[in-house]
Amino acid sequence: MNVTDIIHGAQAQGKTCFAFELLPPLKGDGMKGTFAMIDPLMEFDPAYINVTFHREGIKQSQRTDGTTEWHVVRRRPGTVGISAAIQKKYGVETVPHLICGGLSRYDIEDALIDMDFLGLHNVLALRGDKSQNERCFKPHPKGHAHAAGLVRQIAAMNRGEFVDGEVEECHHSRFSVGVAGYPETHEEAPSPEADLRHLKEKIDAGADYIVTQLFYDNACFFDFVRRCREAGIGVPIIPGIKPLATVRHLTLLPETFGCRIPDDLRREVEAHRDDKAAVRRIGTEWAIAQSRELKAAGVPVLHYYPMGKAENIIEIAKTVF
Ligand code: FAD
Repeated sequence: MNVTDIIHGAQAQGKTCFAFELLPPLKGDGMKGTFAMIDPLMEFDPAYINVTFHREGIKQSQRTDGTTEWHVVRRRPGTVGISAAIQKKYGVETVPHLICGGLSRYDIEDALIDMDFLGLHNVLALRGDKSQNERCFKPHPKGHAHAAGLVRQIAAMNRGEFVDGEVEECHHSRFSVGVAGYPETHEEAPSPEADLRHLKEKIDAGADYIVTQLFYDNACFFDFVRRCREAGIGVPIIPGIKPLATVRHLTLLPETFGCRIPDDLRREVEAHRDDKAAVRRIGTEWAIAQSRELKAAGVPVLHYYPMGKAENIIEIAKTVF
């Protein structure tokens, strides 16, 4: 069963599934840390596990003559490999992410062929962020400028059309495709309406469901779903939840993800700013309340972002699932 079938199945049964997203290990680390993170989360019977995809970064160093040297570094390669290893070890559908940034259509095709050979039939199709040394996102000269192009490529491959053209009598891949959505509007979009039009383009290109950027105000999510439906977007919309865990998150999360921190949550965190455990508890309780309300509203899946720390996700899952 692929992820789209799982989501539709949950919707049909009126149930809410648990899912979460992981980062591939840092280069040089083995799989042990990833498995140690997944093990306790298996108790909550995840419907599927997502694995993020990371483009190259830039590292600066000083030459002996004092001038600066820049190196391209890949800190977290191996998305496809670790996804296959997770799927094999736990028997849970895994969803590797795939991005446009830094990749040509051929690179993307190779990654998709590897996924297909490894029994990975789900992909979250993303544009990816700009590279560290770019002022704005620059597509690969032979790649895609927007995620909609990547979705079109995957849909074409499912029909047997490859980058060089059609292969007669070919094996057809059967990828189910998710895409990203932004309840509080993507930072580069000129308006919420334009962002929604671009989201619809991804669905019209063949995407099966949407996973949202993290948010802390459920009203934003419910309004986003309403606006999507009005714009003719009918696919399932999966909310993304990340529990706030530190005082620093009050500034870091809005800066990084463009999300608003509701005044009530901000005030409560500020009032306990010198008590790390209290801040963590406040963030976890907020995420539990968000999750309960979303579950009651009938979302088919709650997609959690542990970002390297499973403990608070375990606490939430114990209460909500
Ligand atoms: P797009 O859908 O291409 O949209 C990007 C911007 O371009 C938006 O402002 C949109 O309105 C605009 N746009 C789209 N189409 C057009 C058009 N035709 N003309 C003009 N403007 C257009 N990043 C990673 O690097 N790796 C990951 O694994 C990863 N996982 C993620 C998972 C989720 C659930 C989410 C929500 C985000 C994730 N990201 C990841 C971050 C994501 O790559 C960034 O938010 C990125 O800036 C946008 O990606 P996108 O797929 O939404 O892009």
